[in-house]
Amino acid sequence: MSSTTVTIDPAHTTPSQNVQNFLSTTRKMLIGGQWVDSVSGKSFPVYNPATGEEMARVAEGDSADIDLAVQAAQKAFETGPWGKMQPLERSRIIWKIGDLMYENIEELSELESIDNGKSMGVAKAVDLPLSADTFHYYAGWATKIEGQTIPLSVPYAPGQNYHAYTLREPVGVVGQIIPWNFPLLMLAWKLGPALATGCTVVLKPAEETPLTALRMGELMLEAGLPEGVVNIVPGYGETAGAALAAHDGVNKVAFTGSSEVGKLIVQAASGNLKKVSLELGGKSPNVIFKDAADIEAAIQGASNAIFFNHGQVCTAGSRLYAEQGVYDQVVEGITENAKKIRLGAGLDPNADMGPLVSQVQLDRVNGYIDCGLNEGAKMVAGGKVDHSGYFVAPTVLTDTKHEMKIIREEIFGPVVAIEPFKDVEEILPVANDSTYGLAAALWTRDLSKAHLTAARLQAGTVWINCYHVYDASLPFGGYKQSGWGREMGHAALENYLETKSVCVAL
Ligand code: ADP
Repeated sequence: MSSTTVTIDPAHTTPSQNVQNFLSTTRKMLIGGQWVDSVSGKSFPVYNPATGEEMARVAEGDSADIDLAVQAAQKAFETGPWGKMQPLERSRIIWKIGDLMYENIEELSELESIDNGKSMGVAKAVDLPLSADTFHYYAGWATKIEGQTIPLSVPYAPGQNYHAYTLREPVGVVGQIIPWNFPLLMLAWKLGPALATGCTVVLKPAEETPLTALRMGELMLEAGLPEGVVNIVPGYGETAGAALAAHDGVNKVAFTGSSEVGKLIVQAASGNLKKVSLELGGKSPNVIFKDAADIEAAIQGASNAIFFNHGQVCTAGSRLYAEQGVYDQVVEGITENAKKIRLGAGLDPNADMGPLVSQVQLDRVNGYIDCGLNEGAKMVAGGKVDHSGYFVAPTVLTDTKHEMKIIREEIFGPVVAIEPFKDVEEILPVANDSTYGLAAALWTRDLSKAHLTAARLQAGTVWINCYHVYDASLPFGGYKQSGWGREMGHAALENYLETKSVCVAL
């Protein structure tokens, strides 16, 4: 097996002075507009994924802090200025949050990069604009949340006239639990619609990546968000996260993360039957037909589908299917691309791919690769990486079988399996045979085949001749065990709204 040595220039693991200042003190949590230590006085370490070394400490919230944060969110919802604000005032604050993200794009991109491991250039070009634009998009919705007037024909009251209408009201206090793969983007997807609808929030960032959420807390106060509207409690999933999901004072929980934890959230939420929305895992099929208009473009798209964000994307195109006739060309192209990718620290401008987020993820992804090889898969790109950071070489596997664990389970790393297929009727049942249903993609120039196949794919998003296209206006979410509900677009507002019917006898 080949091996890659990653050399890291210390200059690429030393953040700017600005960011060093931010990291130099234990970061506190945001409750009721105040920056406070945890009730227990404990803090937890945050590691630099490029070196494996501790780079910051953050206050460690648990159930006691969640209690305080929920109380602050309840107070802000019930008696604070937020509930009395006109929609346009809310809109202006949400817009301003987006503006402040753009104004602080350098610092936020750098923090995101050193926290998560992703390239700072990518954070700046992709994560930051998408996140800021999500706030701008939802700022627009705050003034457009409307009920309906509804004509009645009550059969047992002929002749009686009624005026009936619906009001859309915020669901109340919302618990939001987010993952580490896109810390800022997931924060924006959650907070945008919650704030547009007038909810108040307790947000728990992932323990691996709490830094940008805490910086955003400062920016949200600067934008004029009243105290207690957004409370940020960093901490571990089993303690802070579980307490938030179970809390009786929380009316709704929104979660993005693994399907296993999603099931725990549902159980925890059952105590007070709080509303639940879930964005969970995926094992997305990416199907290249031999009539694709441009096979080279499909190969580049398929490489991006799996290697973007180091494969740590719930929609990663981890199952690649190439039609007989182009299979060899696809394997060769993806393998060549994988071998060209330079590993390095997120702050290294010449690196194409950074480390995974944590030692746990490194062990998990390497475990899956070993498992695939033991089950008979062939590795055409990949191999051991010599470095103490959490690096995995872009890995391409062939000779896999549909029953293998690496084809059934989400790996969440830069690992793709490529299988050949005969025609659309053969591949559709294979593509759909998954417990997940988050995304799928297909590449063809045949318009009818494209649309007919898209309709038959069991996935919340289908990309045709493209991959990883996200927009604040486009609903996103999963079929089957990939989730409940939709984020983004108008659809996401539904997660945070109640409908009240008002009926007046005239
Ligand atoms: P991953 O496997 O990708 O790390 P997880 O689903 O474990 O994703 O984590 C996503 C988020 O869920 C994180 O913020 C984590 O702290 C939180 N979390 C983990 N376990 C629980 C739990 N039992 N209850 C609530 N939240 C949890």
